[in-house]
Amino acid sequence: MENKLKELKNTFIEGIKNIKNNIELKELENNYIWKKWKLKKILAWIKDLNLEDKKNIWIIANNLKIFIINNIKNKEFELEKLKYEKIENDEQIDISLEFPSKNLWHKHPISITSNLLEEIFISLGFKIEDGPQIEIEKYNFDKLNIPDNHPARDVWDTFWISDNINNKRSKWEKYLLRTHTSPVQVRTMLKWKMPIKIIVPGRVFRYEQEDARHTCNFYQLEWLVVWKWITFWNLKWTLDTVMKKLLGKDTKLRFRPSIFPFTEPSAEIDISCQICKNTGSHCKMCSWTWWVELLWAWMVHPKVLTSCWINPEEYSWFAFGIWIDRIASQKFWVDSSRMFYQSKLKLNEQF
Ligand SMILES: [Zn+2]
Repeated sequence: MENKLKELKNTFIEGIKNIKNNIELKELENNYIWKKWKLKKILAWIKDLNLEDKKNIWIIANNLKIFIINNIKNKEFELEKLKYEKIENDEQIDISLEFPSKNLWHKHPISITSNLLEEIFISLGFKIEDGPQIEIEKYNFDKLNIPDNHPARDVWDTFWISDNINNKRSKWEKYLLRTHTSPVQVRTMLKWKMPIKIIVPGRVFRYEQEDARHTCNFYQLEWLVVWKWITFWNLKWTLDTVMKKLLGKDTKLRFRPSIFPFTEPSAEIDISCQICKNTGSHCKMCSWTWWVELLWAWMVHPKVLTSCWINPEEYSWFAFGIWIDRIASQKFWVDSSRMFYQSKLKLNEQF
């Protein structure tokens, strides 16, 4: 039986040498492992051997099985490599060819909206700040007054970077995809001198149940002012001015008191739906209520300022956040934010 196994191994080695494509390799795999299972046929005789021989044959057979599986995997890899080498040699790119110019240079509606918002805020004296999309836990949560086990962490299902990387990192330094643009506020407060008057546009990520208003990644814009004598009136005026400039003079804002577990007094702000304009027609965006929640505003918690070495006794501060996707929906009458992420040229070519 040992000789038969050796013979099988030699036939396999000869066989695999001559394989030229994936179809032949699949057939060889079927012969040796799956359908026909040549090894199994030989082992059918194992019951006639004594115990010692059974053990030896079993070890040889097992090693042979591993040998066959590994060789098939290697061959598969080799064939794949050859395929791409062939493509590389056969196909050439002529960079001097003229590029077709039809239907190019359409800006995505989210980029258009973000740029418009940036222009309006710059005209009001704001600076634009940016930060990494892969953030560390400390800036995304802890320094924003959201410590471990805080209920606010449950509100956002967070995408963490794989355990292979995070297990090697210390507490607070673990990587995640930022759930909001607020970590940039912390980064700015830590490096800047007073006063601070910034906006932070950018992409954020949350594990959301997707619908017309929610997607797993979306764009936010945050506003932060830390200065002396700032009041809620400044915030209200700024918001009203920005929204009217962006969406038209008849845009209305509705302020509602709200509670966020990690801020001081907060408000949610709705704007009048630009898609149905209260006509009573079916509207996925506002669910027939005429109001769409677009913004949230809050007074930064004194603990956040203290954690960034700013004296809360000396300075006043306000912040608010906007869903750029929802504003884009309102501005361009797209009744589902999901459409922005479906790479549909029919949509993009309209802009
Ligand atoms: Zn509506």
